[in-house]
Amino acid sequence: MTNAAFDDLLSANRDYAASVDVAGFDGIARAGVAIVTCMDSRIDPLAMLGLKHGDAKIFRNPGGRVTDQALEALVLGVHLLNVSRILVVPHTRCAMASSTLEQVREKVSASAGQDVSWQTFGMVADQRAALADDVHKVQAHPLIPEGVEVGGFIYDVDTGLLEHLV
Ligand SMILES: [Zn+2]
Repeated sequence: MTNAAFDDLLSANRDYAASVDVAGFDGIARAGVAIVTCMDSRIDPLAMLGLKHGDAKIFRNPGGRVTDQALEALVLGVHLLNVSRILVVPHTRCAMASSTLEQVREKVSASAGQDVSWQTFGMVADQRAALADDVHKVQAHPLIPEGVEVGGFIYDVDTGLLEHLV
């Protein structure tokens, strides 16, 4: 490829590859942890839990919701990849929880210059209620064994602290 848009990142990647030893690294979650959290760039999932490269399975989406795909990831994590603790972590000041569907559609429509009413956005009306639902969805899944610990937390993007809610 000759597209220069990724040059800085690929250059950084060469430095990364030279500095780390990834050979022989397997794909299990070494700390037995899986995290479902938001795509928000203020969240550093490994660092906020004192974890490092290789320790955790991480599934991210807008809002940090337990979607069907998140459940798919968690089932695989639990049965094939050493996961025994699952953290569901939405966060404060999340755009998905502080805007209405109409507001987001308006903003995206203004940026895109076209109607976006066909695009799905998974807005969250009540973040704490959604978190309780999401944790329950994981716990109630027939392929998530009872021995797996599931917790619901809110990450405060201003303090860096997690609050354990569910
Ligand atoms: Zn968010």
